[in-house]
Amino acid sequence: MLVEIDVQSGFCTGVVNAIRTTEEELAKEKTGYAPSLHVIGDIVHNSLEVARLEKKGLVTINHEQFAKLRDCRVLFRAHGEPPSSYEMAKANRIEVLDASCPVVLYLQQQIREAYEELKTGGGRVVIYGKKGHAEVEGLVGQTNGDALVIDNEDDIEQIDFTKRVILFSQTTKNLEKFQSIATIILQRGGDLVTVHDTICRKVSNRIPELRKFAGQHDVILFVSDEKSSNGKQLYAVCKEVNERSYFIRSIDDVRPEMLEGANSVGISGATSTPVWIMEELKNKL
Ligand code: SF4
Repeated sequence: MLVEIDVQSGFCTGVVNAIRTTEEELAKEKTGYAPSLHVIGDIVHNSLEVARLEKKGLVTINHEQFAKLRDCRVLFRAHGEPPSSYEMAKANRIEVLDASCPVVLYLQQQIREAYEELKTGGGRVVIYGKKGHAEVEGLVGQTNGDALVIDNEDDIEQIDFTKRVILFSQTTKNLEKFQSIATIILQRGGDLVTVHDTICRKVSNRIPELRKFAGQHDVILFVSDEKSSNGKQLYAVCKEVNERSYFIRSIDDVRPEMLEGANSVGISGATSTPVWIMEELKNKL
């Protein structure tokens, strides 16, 4: 059986940087150089990778636990954080290791500027994204909680089209869906609407090649975690092209009937899927 790993899969640059920073800091911890390292939320949307790093000493906390910490190190992951997290860290003498992805930081800056611009003339920042998603919380925080988050066409009704609208997107949303939502908003608001396409191409640029890859194999094993939004999106692309595509977390989810009669198996994954899980799967297959 031919087993091939999709060369495009594996961590995106934002996640590579966050994991590298974590490992470097954990190594310092081993020599007794610094106190324990905390991270707000899963360092990456992959529970096996989270478990690997937690075994090395990383402590995953939530925002409530973060508020109680004093005099320690906290890593901000690639999703970014709202300004309130930086303020709290400063007030509580917490050393911040900022692994926010530069793409997200730039988007935060654009949103801050748009919010300031609208303060004088009126209007609202609108973000196409998943409500409650960590990146979206960080983006809304740039507007003091004022931005409107929309996740589907029905939510467009909440927009006041008598005033200016500046539209952005969460970086990992589906490009085609964003474009279709932006078209409707432009039709409704006309000149009052400004659209910023802020989708990270690390995901959408993979789609054409992923379609080819999914078509080249009898079976596709797509390795990801339910928490990964780009994982669900990229898996849907595989499923569209190849009916025998399966969403799995690791080798443990592979059942013999999935591979029945298959001469070639393609392994792919999300931007949060570590290569070591895909290699382990390939070896075991
Ligand atoms: S998907 Fe893009 S924006 Fe998100 S962490 Fe990766 S590189 Fe950064």
